Amino acid sequence: MQTVFEQVVWAPRIVAARPLNSIDNEYEDIVALLMDYRSDDSAETLRLCYAIATASMGENHLWQDMGLASRKAMSALLEAHFPALVARNVGDMKWKKFFYRQLCERAGVPICKSPHCAECDDKPVCFGPEDA
Ligand code: SF4
Repeated sequence: MQTVFEQVVWAPRIVAARPLNSIDNEYEDIVALLMDYRSDDSAETLRLCYAIATASMGENHLWQDMGLASRKAMSALLEAHFPALVARNVGDMKWKKFFYRQLCERAGVPICKSPHCAECDDKPVCFGPEDA
């Protein structure tokens, strides 16, 4: 039986993700974000930084583009390898939205309509269930 890590690394959806040459900057920024918050330097965690960044370029929920069974499985994987980053997602934002919000904050370039999520018209887009 495959481990969760093996399922993620060989997930067909990762292979099918958008070509990297069209999204180099986003991809590299997400890799850097994940690297900064990784819990350890194991090969598994390092490989996940690249796998998650690649899946983040996909069109579906992150758990779907990772080939996992649910958002719950995605959250558990992130919690195991990037706990300090997960702790920052206090509002339980959708993972891809959360990553991009983090990138905007790191770059000091806010692209959101509102400085606070609670007052934002886009709140239903950024939060809420990530069902299939
Ligand atoms: S809810 Fe609005 S302010 Fe919050 S991350 Fe989404 S777009 Fe930005």
